[in-house]
Amino acid sequence: MKKKQNIDWDNLGFGVYPTRSMWKSTNSINGEWDKGGLIPYGNIEISPAAGVLNYGQGIFEGMKAYHSSKDRLVLFRPEMNAKRISTSCKRLCMPEISKDYFINAILEVVRDNADFVPPYNKGGLYIRPVVWGTAPTLGVAPASEYTFLVYTAPVGPYFRGGIKPLNLIASESYHRAAPKGIGHVKAIGNYSASLEPVRKAKEDGFDEVLYLKAEDERLVEEVGSANIFMRKGNQLVTPRLAGSILPGVTRNSILKLAQDQLGLDVTEGDLLLEDLFTADEVFCTGTAVVLTPVGHITYRKKTHMIKDGNMGEAATELRKKLVHIQLEKKEDSYGWIYPV
Ligand SMILES: *Cc1c(COP(=O)(O)O)cnc(C)c1O
Repeated sequence: MKKKQNIDWDNLGFGVYPTRSMWKSTNSINGEWDKGGLIPYGNIEISPAAGVLNYGQGIFEGMKAYHSSKDRLVLFRPEMNAKRISTSCKRLCMPEISKDYFINAILEVVRDNADFVPPYNKGGLYIRPVVWGTAPTLGVAPASEYTFLVYTAPVGPYFRGGIKPLNLIASESYHRAAPKGIGHVKAIGNYSASLEPVRKAKEDGFDEVLYLKAEDERLVEEVGSANIFMRKGNQLVTPRLAGSILPGVTRNSILKLAQDQLGLDVTEGDLLLEDLFTADEVFCTGTAVVLTPVGHITYRKKTHMIKDGNMGEAATELRKKLVHIQLEKKEDSYGWIYPV
C-alpha cells in the first residue's frame, strides 16, 4: 500500500479536494471513445458554446473507494454505476460507455490516487465520473463531441460524532422531477433545479427536502439525492422504480439486506406521505449518506416526529450490515466488493 498523503484525515468533510490525477477521454463524431488516460488534476479548457454549458447535456455518477479492514482498496458494486451511466448517457443522446471501459477508467484513477484514499474507517475516496457534450452547439441539438472525465476527492464520514436523524420538509412548492422527464437518470439539470428548494429548506431550519410525486402529491418520491424507505412492523416499503425515481445502488443493496438478513417483508410500491407520520422508522439511502434516519417531517406547517425521533433498530442494523460489507469486516456473500 502506497504511503498516505499528509492530510488531516480526522477533519475531512465532503468537499472538493485536489488530487494527483484525473481520467479523460473523448468521443468525436465517429461515435467511439478514444483510448483515454490519466492527466494531471486541474482545470480544463472548454468552448463557451459547449452543449453542456448551454443546454445541460451532462450527466454524472457518484461512488466511493474504501481502504478496507483487509488493508486493500475496494469499490462497491461498480458494475451498477456502469449500468446507470450508460442509461443516463442514452437518455441525454450521449454515446454510451461500456462496463469494462468504465470500470477500467475508475480503477486507473483510484490506483494513481491511492495515497488520497482515507485510512480504514476514516471515510472514502469519492469518485465522480462525468460525461459532457463538449463540442460547440449553438442550436439545441446533441453535441458532436463528448468528454468522459473521472476525478476524485477524499471525503470524511458524512456524520461526525454520531448520526443525527434528519429533519425534513415535505414540499408542496417544488417537485424534483417530472413524470416521463429525466428524474430517473443522474442528469445535471435535476440538481440545478434542487438548489433553490434546498436553500429555502435550510433557511427554514430543515436539513433536506422530501419531494412528493408530481403526478400524485399524496405519494413520496425521494429526498434530494437519496432514496427513501419506511418500516411499519415487519413491512419495509420504498417507492417503486417508475417515472422519476433514481435507481440507487444503496437502495438496491438495502432491499436485499433487509429481505435476506433481517427477514423483513420488502415492497417496492406506492409510499403514502401520510403513512410516514405513523411509521416505526423512516430512513434514506445513498452513496454520500449511506443510510440515514429521518427524525421529523414537516408538512403543511405541522411537524410529525417519527416514533421517538431517534434512529430505529432496522436502520441501525441495516447500516451496520452494509458498512461491514463495504469495509470487508464481514463476509461479502453477494459479490459486491470489487478489489482495486
Ligand atoms: C445518486 C442519487 C441517489 C442515490 O443513489 P446511490 O447509487 O445509492 O448513491 C438517490 N437519489 C438521487 C436523486 C440521486 O441523484
